[in-house]
This record gives sequence, structure tokens and C-alpha cells, in this order.
Amino acid sequence: MVCYFARDITERREAARESERLHRALALSQKHEAVGRLAAGIAHDFNNQLMVMTLCAELVGDSLETDDPSHREILDLLTAGKSAAGLIRQLLAFSGQQILRPTLMCPDTAIEQQRRLLSRTLGEHIRISTESIDGPKSILFDRTQFEQVIVNLAMNARDAMPQGGTFEIETCIVEVGTDFHEDFATLRPGPHVLIKVTDSGSGMDEETLARLFEPFFTTKGNGGTGLGLATVYGIIKQSGGSIWASSTLGVGTTFRIFLPVGDGAAESVESVDAEAAHSCLTGSERLLVVDDDEMVRVLVSRILRDLGYVVFEADGPAEAIEVREEIERRGEPGIDLILTDVVMPDESGPSMIRSMSERFGPSRVLFMSGYATDRIKEEDLSASDFVLLSKPLGRSVLADAVRTALNP
Ligand code: ADP
Ligand code: MG
Repeated sequence: MVCYFARDITERREAARESERLHRALALSQKHEAVGRLAAGIAHDFNNQLMVMTLCAELVGDSLETDDPSHREILDLLTAGKSAAGLIRQLLAFSGQQILRPTLMCPDTAIEQQRRLLSRTLGEHIRISTESIDGPKSILFDRTQFEQVIVNLAMNARDAMPQGGTFEIETCIVEVGTDFHEDFATLRPGPHVLIKVTDSGSGMDEETLARLFEPFFTTKGNGGTGLGLATVYGIIKQSGGSIWASSTLGVGTTFRIFLPVGDGAAESVESVDAEAAHSCLTGSERLLVVDDDEMVRVLVSRILRDLGYVVFEADGPAEAIEVREEIERRGEPGIDLILTDVVMPDESGPSMIRSMSERFGPSRVLFMSGYATDRIKEEDLSASDFVLLSKPLGRSVLADAVRTALNP
């Protein structure tokens, strides 16, 4: 086990460099937050609108005869909707606001499984080496995003080594001490998994090194998007980790990713596998749909009614509670599942669910959110069963998620 503690900095020059570095880290972190707020603000409304467009296109598609030539246009509409959703996901990813599905995973296993993809990404002229020190390790991380991180680093390494070279990934456990200042903003003391990714490429000058995590920063002209490392930074930061780059011109570059060791109990958000196929997606249960966006609410409700469910609608937490009280007053059976937006003007979805479970007992909940899960994790919803879906949702994902949430 390697121990990382801040060295006693006595030399003034080193102190100045250290202070400069901290300033840079702080500036980057603030920029990241500003972009994050912007992205989240756009994503919420944008995803609602996309969802309306997609669901309408699906409904129109259904009403056409099978040989209607307009099916082609409907398909184009749906494809465009998917790619617009992809753009928003990208924006949320680099601003650390996307919906993550963290599970306990071993980085070594994931890297081994990715090796074939990596050798294809890097090409034959680059040698790949992996080393795992300190045995198997565990991190709480979104698997797909983990792959994305490694692939983005590999693509940059490939670009930096046009004549070939080596690409190394090494993992080990490090103990972060209380006086560890690599990234004062995010690293907490305790055991961390360190993933070290090194290439023997061109390296970078100081100026590039200072800016490489900024969104849209690229030195590749039209060949680059400047989003690779911004995305990596966003994912790592959102997962409670930290990433650092060091580089020497003409020698190569090393990225160090620190991630807290996962402890098993941390997994708080369940998720539905959107692709999971269910043979029967209809039902007759009683559902309550809460969303302040009227078009989304009306469409979601209509689709669920078409599947056979009894659907109640509410435009926000206040009305939702009224609806449930009315049901109770009439002595009707209760609500089997609540589908709710997360961010609403007067009260958040999670907060509504909390007051509902005090008043009506625990309920099954399906959150539909346009972005990050943070607000859900923060609040204690342990009394309720809940699942989180990311907007925009297509009809089959919606139908499937409702069925799965009703009988898990
Ligand atoms: P892009 O690859 O589209 O330029 P990135 O965000 O992935 O955007 O990287 C930003 C910049 O950081 C690159 O343009 C390059 O100058 C520099 N960079 C990133 N990784 C490396 C590396 N492994 N070696 C040298 N330079 C790198
Ligand atoms: Mg890149």
C-alpha cells in the first residue's frame, strides 16, 4: 500500500507553485459548477419537450395504417429525438449532472473486460499494459461511465502517440491523509482506489495542462471537440472522486484518478434496465401521475390509460395530496404506484413522497427526472420503494418501468 501525504513544503518557489495550482483547481471547479447549473436549467425543460415530441410521434405512428408512407417521417422524428436526447446527456455528463447508476464494481475486472475494445481504439502500433496492485478492489461507480472514462483517456493517448508507444493502466489502493491537498475540494480522508493512466506520447505544455479539463478546450483544431476530458472530469467529480494530470513535453502524460473505496451499503438508487423485455406490459393498477408540465403529464397518463391502468393526475404535490385524500374519503382502494417529476416549482418530488408516506404510509414510486440524482440521494426516502428514470422517456420504456415497479 502506498501512502500519499502532502510533503512539507519549505521552498518558497514550491509554495508559490502549490498556491497557483490550488487557484487553478478552484477556478476549474467554479467554472464546472456554473456550466452545471446552466446545463441543468436547460436540460429540465428541454427533456420535457423532447419527451412530448417523442411520445406524440409514437402515438401518431400508431394511428397510421401499416402501409402508410408517413411511417418513414415518424421514424426520422424519433431518430432525431434520440440524438437530441444524446446531446443533452453529453451536456449533463461534462457538467456532472447526469443520472448515474452506481453499482459496486471492481475497476480491474472492468478494465480487463474492456481490453479488446481498447486495443481496437488504440491501434496495433500502441502497446497496452495493465497492472493491478493490492489485489481486487471495489468502487461505487456507474459501469457504463467507467468505460467512457477509460475510452476517452485512451483516445487522447492515441492522438498523442501517432508513431506508437505504450498505454498503461495501473490500479492500487492509497490512503488519503487529512493533510492531503491534491484536490482539497473533493477528496475526503480514507482509503481510495488510485487508477493511474499513462502514455508515452507527446505530452503537454503548462498552458494546455492548465486548461485541459475545460469544456470545449482542444488543441486539435477541427479534429477535436474538447469534450473528452471535460466529460471525464464531470463523471469523476460526480462520483465523489478526483482526477489529476501531470505531463512532460516529449515524454508523456499521466492521469491519476482517485475514487473512494466502495463499502457496499452506499447504493441508494435503484434503476430500471430500460432494455429489459417484459412479455406483458398492461395492467389495471391505480397510478398517480404528478408533473407540473401539463403536456408531459397528459401524454404519460394517456399512454398508461391505453395500457389499462386507472390513472389519476396532479399538477404538483399539493394537488397530489388532495387527490389521495379524496380517494380515501370515498373509501376507494389506494394508489399502487406514484409516477412523479423530481424538480417541481413549489415542492420537490422526493419531499412530496416523504410527506405522503407520513400521511398515507409507504408507497411505490417511480421518479422521472431530467437530470442528476443528487436531490434524491440527499433526502431520506428509505420508507419508500423507488426507481429512477431519466427523461425523455419513450413509450416502451415507460410501460416497462411501470410494470417492473409494480411487480419487481
Ligand atoms: P479533444 O481530444 O477533443 O481535443 P479533450 O478534452 O479530450 O478534447 O482533450 C483536451 C486537450 O487536452 C487535447 O486537445 C490535448 O491538447 C490535451 N490532451 C488530452 N490528453 C492528452 C494526452 N494524453 N497527451 C497529450 N495531450 C493531451
Ligand atoms: Mg479527447
